[in-house]
Amino acid sequence: MNYKKSEELYKKALNFMPAGVNSPVRAFNSVNMTPLFIESAKGSKIYDADGNEYIDYICSWGPNILGNACPEVVEAVKKTCESGLTFGACHKGEIELAEIIKRNIPSMEMLRLVNSGTEAVMSAVRVARGYTRRDKILKFEGCYHGHSDGLLVKAGSGLLTNAIPESAGIPEDYIKNTLLAEYNNKESVENLFKQYGNEIACVLVEPCAANMGVVPPVDDFLPYLRYITEKYNAVLIFDEVITGFRLGGTGGAGKYYGVTPDMTALGKIVGGGMPLAVYGGKRKIMECVAPLGSVYQAGTLSGNPVAVSAGIAVLKILENSPEIYENLEKKSRKLEDAMKSVGLNVNRAGSIMTVFFNDEKVINYNIAKKSDTKKYAEYFKHLLEHNIYTAPSQFEAMFISNAHTDEDIDYTCDIIKNSVIY
Ligand SMILES: *Cc1c(COP(=O)(O)O)cnc(C)c1O
Repeated sequence: MNYKKSEELYKKALNFMPAGVNSPVRAFNSVNMTPLFIESAKGSKIYDADGNEYIDYICSWGPNILGNACPEVVEAVKKTCESGLTFGACHKGEIELAEIIKRNIPSMEMLRLVNSGTEAVMSAVRVARGYTRRDKILKFEGCYHGHSDGLLVKAGSGLLTNAIPESAGIPEDYIKNTLLAEYNNKESVENLFKQYGNEIACVLVEPCAANMGVVPPVDDFLPYLRYITEKYNAVLIFDEVITGFRLGGTGGAGKYYGVTPDMTALGKIVGGGMPLAVYGGKRKIMECVAPLGSVYQAGTLSGNPVAVSAGIAVLKILENSPEIYENLEKKSRKLEDAMKSVGLNVNRAGSIMTVFFNDEKVINYNIAKKSDTKKYAEYFKHLLEHNIYTAPSQFEAMFISNAHTDEDIDYTCDIIKNSVIY
C-alpha cells in the first residue's frame, strides 16, 4: 500500500493545524501512522489521495448510515442550495425535521436544532440546570459528551471523588459540579445520590456507551437511572448522538432498551452528513428555553436549511424502510460471528461494535483502559493493508452502513479470520 500523497499532504497540514488535523482522532496517533487524506467517498467505499480504495467502516463516525454520498441526500442538498444557503430566520424545513424526530422519539415533545453534538449536550445540560434550579450534574467515566468545559472530566483518585479536568485550559472551578460515576455500576450512582441527591440537576449518559469502544448497558442499569432520577426529581438525559436513529430502528436507544429519558441529544445521523444536531425533551422542561423561558441558547446557523434538508432526506428513508435496520443487524451479526470464531473479544449493539484486545469482558472504562492498544494498532494495520478502513483507535466504534454489500461483509470476515496477529 502506497500512502505517499497522504504523507505529503500531512506534512503541509502540520504547518497550519495542530498535528495537521481538525479533530484529534484523525491524527492516527494511537496506531503510529500518519493520517490518510480522503479524496472522495461513495456508497460503502472511501478513497484516499493515493487512489487506495477501502471499505469504509468509520462512516464519518456515524452520520453515513446510508453509506457515503447517498444520492437522495446529495440531491436534496443541491436542490436546497439553489434557494439560499442560510437565512438566519425561520423556514418550514425546521418544522418538517422536528415532526419526523418527534414522531419517532415521542419523548422529544419539543426540541431545538443546533450545529454539533457538543452544542446539543451542552445546551441540554444548561436547560436541565435551569429547570431544576440545581447545579450538580452526574456523568459516567468513559462517556463522551462533546468538548464543552464541564463535561471534559475524568476520575480523580477514586470513583466517588470530585472530578478533575481531562484537558488543560479548564479551571477546576468549572467542573466542581460534575460528579463522576462508573458506567454499569448502580452502586456508584446510588452513593452519589445519597450524598448529593437534592443538588443533582441531571444524570447524563450514553445509553449505550460508544466512546470508550462500544460498551452496552448491563440489564438493569438504565432502568435504575430512570428510577433514581425520578426519586430525586433529577432530569435523565440520554446522549443519543451516536445511537439516535441507529439502535432500536428509528426509535433510538431509549426504545431499544425500553427506558424513556426526560431529555435527549441527537447528532451525527440526524444531520445526514451536514453540521446539525438536536436537543429536546418534555415540553415543561423545554419551555424553559429563551425567549419562552429564562435559559439562553441561540445560534446563527442553527436550523441551517441545507443541513436540515440533508437530515430530512436521511430520516425519511430510514423511517420508510424498516428493512434497513434488519439488514444492518444481519450484516453486523455476521461480522461479530467472524470475530468471535477467531476468539476476538467483541462488544456489539446493533450496527456498532468494537473488538477489544482485552482478556476481560469490557463493561466499564476501567476495564476498557486495560486493553492492549499495541495489539489494536496491529489489527488496524492488518485491516488497512487489506483495504478495510476502521477506527484508528481502540476506543472507538466500527460502524456498519446500509451501503455495505454482502460481498464487502464476506471479504471483511475473511480478512479478520485470516490474520496471524491473534
Ligand atoms: C460525537 C459525539 C458527541 C459530540 O458531537 P460533535 O458533533 O462531535 O460535537 C457527543 N456525544 C456523543 C455520544 C458522541 O458520540
